[in-house]
This record gives sequence, C-alpha cells and structure tokens, in this order.
Amino acid sequence: MFKKILIANRGEIALRVMAACREMGIATVAVYSEADREALHTRGADESVFIGASEPAESYLNIGRIIEAARQTGAEAIHPGYGFLAENAEFAQACLDAGLTFIGPPPQAIRSFGNKTVARKLMIDGGVPVVPGMVEPDLDPVRVAAHAQKIGYPVLVKAAAGGGGKGMRIVHDPAELTAALTSASSEAAAAFGDGSVYLEKYIARPRHVEIQVLADAHGNIIHLFERECSIQRRHQKIIEETPSTALTPELRREMGETAVRAAAAAGYVNAGTVEFILDEDGRFYFLEANTRLQVEHPITEMITGIDIVRRQIRIAAGEKLDLKQEQVTARGHAIECRIYAEDPANDFFPSPGKILYLKEPVGPGIRNDCGIYEGYTVPVEYDPILSKLVVHAETRDDAIDRMKKALDEYVIVGIKTPNAFLYDVIDSKPFREGKTLTSFIPTYFPSWQPTLPDRETAALAFVADAMAGRRTTESAAAGPAEIPLPWQTLGHWRL
Ligand code: ADP
Ligand code: ADP
Ligand code: MG
Repeated sequence: MFKKILIANRGEIALRVMAACREMGIATVAVYSEADREALHTRGADESVFIGASEPAESYLNIGRIIEAARQTGAEAIHPGYGFLAENAEFAQACLDAGLTFIGPPPQAIRSFGNKTVARKLMIDGGVPVVPGMVEPDLDPVRVAAHAQKIGYPVLVKAAAGGGGKGMRIVHDPAELTAALTSASSEAAAAFGDGSVYLEKYIARPRHVEIQVLADAHGNIIHLFERECSIQRRHQKIIEETPSTALTPELRREMGETAVRAAAAAGYVNAGTVEFILDEDGRFYFLEANTRLQVEHPITEMITGIDIVRRQIRIAAGEKLDLKQEQVTARGHAIECRIYAEDPANDFFPSPGKILYLKEPVGPGIRNDCGIYEGYTVPVEYDPILSKLVVHAETRDDAIDRMKKALDEYVIVGIKTPNAFLYDVIDSKPFREGKTLTSFIPTYFPSWQPTLPDRETAALAFVADAMAGRRTTESAAAGPAEIPLPWQTLGHWRL
C-alpha cells in the first residue's frame, strides 16, 4: 500500500479523500493556490505545497507544478478528486511518466470516454444502447439539419467534449438549429478548448439514472447499483438518491450488467460511472461515462456500506477486488443535496463571500461532507460547492423526513445557499411521489422565491442578535460594509 498520497484538488472533495487516507494510515499532501491559503484542505493535510496563483490554469490545472509537488514531498500516488484534472488523460499519462500512480483509470480509458462521440462509437461496438443521433461531430448547418430531420425534433445539440452541463442546447424548431450550433460550439470552445458539437435525439420526459462501477486491474468488474440524478438545474444535478423509484429489480439488473459491459468495452479500471437516460417506457440509453469519483458517490456508500474512495486507492495499488457481484447488497434509502454558494431565487447565480455563521446538521443517519468553516471566504475562482449533505434511512419516506430535518438545522449566514429551495423541493408532493424527471425544477419550481413565515423572522432576530454580540471585534477590523444584513442572506432556518 502507498505510504503517501498527493491530493490534486481542493474543497470538500480533497477533504473526503484525505479522510480515507487517514483511515488507511496513508500520509497526505495537499496542494493549494493563492486563494486557498486559508482553506480547510490546506490546513488539514499532513503537508501542504503552494502551487501557484488563484486562476485554475496556474494552480489546480497546472500539471507540471502538481507533479513537482509530488516529487518534492515523496508522494507515490495522486488522487485527482472530481473536476480540474480528474478526467484529463494527459495528466494521468504525466503521472505514469513521472513514476507516480494515478488513482483513476488508464489514460486510454479516459480518452475513450472523454469525448462523447468517441464513446458513442465504442458503446455501439460493445452492444450498449446509445441515444439515437450522430456519431461524428459536425458544424455544417446543412448536414446537421439533415440529421435532425432524420432523428426528428426536438433534438439536443451537445458538445463532444462536454461536462458539467455546458455546451448543450435543446432545439424544437428547425429555424433555431443553426444559432444553437453556433452558441453551443462557442460555449464548448471556451469551456473545453474544443468546439466540436453533435446531435442527439432529445428524449422526452426522461430520468437520469447512472450506475457506479468498480473495476480492478485483473479484469474483475462489478457494479454498485444506481443513482437517480434527475433533479437538475442547468443540466447539472443538485439532488440525488438511491435506489431510484423508477427501477424494477429486472431493470436494475439489466442496467447494471450493461454498465459493466460498457466498462469492459473501454478497458476500464478503477471507480467509474456509466450515465444513462431512462425514458418513460423503461428504455435506457448510454449518455456518457465519468472516469472519476462522482460528486454523488456518498449515497452509494451509504446503501452498500462500501467506501468507494478506499476501493479506488486499493485498486490503484494493484489489489484484486475481493467482492463478487452477488456479495454487493443494498440497505435502505439515501439522498444527497448539493449545497452550493448560489442564489436559488436568482437563477442559481453564484454567491461567493464570507461565511459569518455556520451550524452544521448532526444526528443519526446524517453525513455532511463539508469544505467550509465559520469565518472562511468562499473564493470566486472555483466551482462554488460548499458541501454535500447526505442522509440514510430505512425507507424513502424516512430519508425525506431526515433530509428535511437536516436542511432545517443547517444554517449558513453571509452568502446565499439553496437550502430553503432544497427544503421546499424535498417537502413537495411530486418529490414525495417520486415524480423525479429531469424536467422537475422547470415543471414544479419554475420561479421559486423564499417565504419567511413569522417564526423564521423570530429565528433570524435571534441569530442576528447572537452574531452582533460575537462580531464586535471582528467587524471593527473588517469594516461594516463587508457584512450583509443576516436576514438578506440567511437560508431556511426554524426554531
Ligand atoms: P458529477 O458528474 O460528478 O455528477 P458534475 O457534472 O456536477 O458532477 O461535475 C462535477 C465537477 O466537475 C464540477 O465542479 C464541474 O464543474 C466539474 N466538471 C465536470 N465535467 C467537467 C469537464 N469535462 N471539465 C472540467 N470540469 C468538469
Ligand atoms: P454532461 O457531460 O454535461 O454531464 P450529459 O450527457 O451527462 O452531459 O447530460 C447532462 C444532462 O442533460 C442529463 O443528465 C440530462 O438531464 C440531459 N440530457 C443529456 N442528453 C439528453 C438527451 N439526449 N435527451 C434528454 N436529456 C438529455
Ligand atoms: Mg453527465
């Protein structure tokens, strides 16, 4: 086993990986940028190496600096987390070239899945159903229009290099196609340095259901069931749960086996996720594969009892999977809410800034993978995820009740968070009934605004009063202009 691992990431996911290392007796090296001098991951690792300016290109995307940090500290392996370099085949290769173990799949598997059209071809060859559409990127409006006519409107323009919901346009009317191609392509070029786009049939009223797989370097591949990730804003997940209310045991088995086949077709090793779109008739199609740890991996950990990060590390160290498919069992129901610094009443606009007051929820079956602390300033430079709030309970109904309680007790003052919005979603009848399609938010919460009942106003007054007492010295130093009024920023909070 490795003695020392460098974590090439920041925030909550760096801390999540650090926790697994600590449990396994492995020393940790954090890397940090200028903006992250005071971040929790910087403070929490056994060693921390400064790698550059705040802009990601200068630090968390700087392959040379990260490899150098590993050399300098004697780390033997690098865990990339998610985002940044996690799905960068060049980085995985650079690790290997430097004699370091990349805790993830081989560069070739990252390349195969990293491009959506390359992956679609590979899946078709491997007998995995894909969404009807093009298998080569194309920007020629005439040829693309002919394809669109063939597969039928509505169609979805997608970036071949896409990720995080970027570079996607739904087109209902042929007259809108050319403009959609141009705007999706330029968004993709800016985000991924690759403006290639292609078309898929837009599946009506779908769900996003993905399968977690684990593959070792000895040819053993298993799956850890599904995650239902249909509650999304801007094509990005914000609430995930497992099991999915839409799967029968037969469909679960079929999708699991298909995901294993997809991983085998790509020569996959380590933890990965095969994403499917599931239509109303129970037909499912390959969407893409994420060749890394997924943001929502904890819900799978909760129901299976399998620690996915520990498994990643053990697989990377060359261990054989000591689990057979039939030994993997699931218990209960788990839900995750992603807590971002963003304003749900203003199109989920990012809301970085200083955290003036923080109270994390605790209790049976509650797990908060958290990357912030009171007094911390959420930087503007990075993905504004603050924490992943996860609950596990015996049944789905119990898990819903538990999540409501946890959201209720979660107080973050100083920046905007989606907590009150998430509470209303979890508390809604359509959610309780499992009507979780990807259209859920536009259908049921098209223009959500917070409500502040009287008892909450009383709670706000209480917090404001408590904070005023605590902040006298701090506010004198910071200046009053920096501190917003608590009732402008407080999320869902009840007495
Ligand atoms: P997941 O696929 O794990 O559910 P997201 O799609 O929300 O999660 O992406 C997780 C993180 O990775 C986000 O910070 C997102 O901005 C980033 N990300 C996702 N795909 C890419 C990509 N292709 N390139 C760069 N960053 C990405
Ligand atoms: P990304 O790499 O950005 O995560 P995905 O291909 O995984 O892109 O798609 C993200 C989301 O967009 C899906 O979860 C789903 O909600 C929606 N989506 C993608 N493709 C389709 C499609 N063909 N039909 C309907 N919805 C789709
Ligand atoms: Mg995706």
